[in-house]
Amino acid sequence: MNIDLKQFAALQKASKNSFAKQKQIVKKVIAGQEVLCPTCQQPLYLLTPEQSTSASGENSGIRCKNGCTDIQLDFV
Ligand SMILES: [Zn+2]
Repeated sequence: MNIDLKQFAALQKASKNSFAKQKQIVKKVIAGQEVLCPTCQQPLYLLTPEQSTSASGENSGIRCKNGCTDIQLDFV
C-alpha cells in the first residue's frame, strides 16, 4: 500500500490542531472558566487524580458528564 504523503501531512496537521485546541480548553477549565463540550454542550469539569481514584476507574483529566470529551492531562 502506498502512503499518500499529502494526505499524511494533512492528517498530521489536523491532529496538531486538535491537540492545540485541547490544550486551550484545558487551560481555560483550570483557570476556572466555563467551557462547554463541543459535542453535547455540557460544561466541562476537571477531574483530579484524587477524585478519579475514588470514582469508578475514571482517568483524571477534563471531562464532560456524558463522556464525549475526555482529555488526559499528562501532556500539560
Ligand atoms: Zn460531551
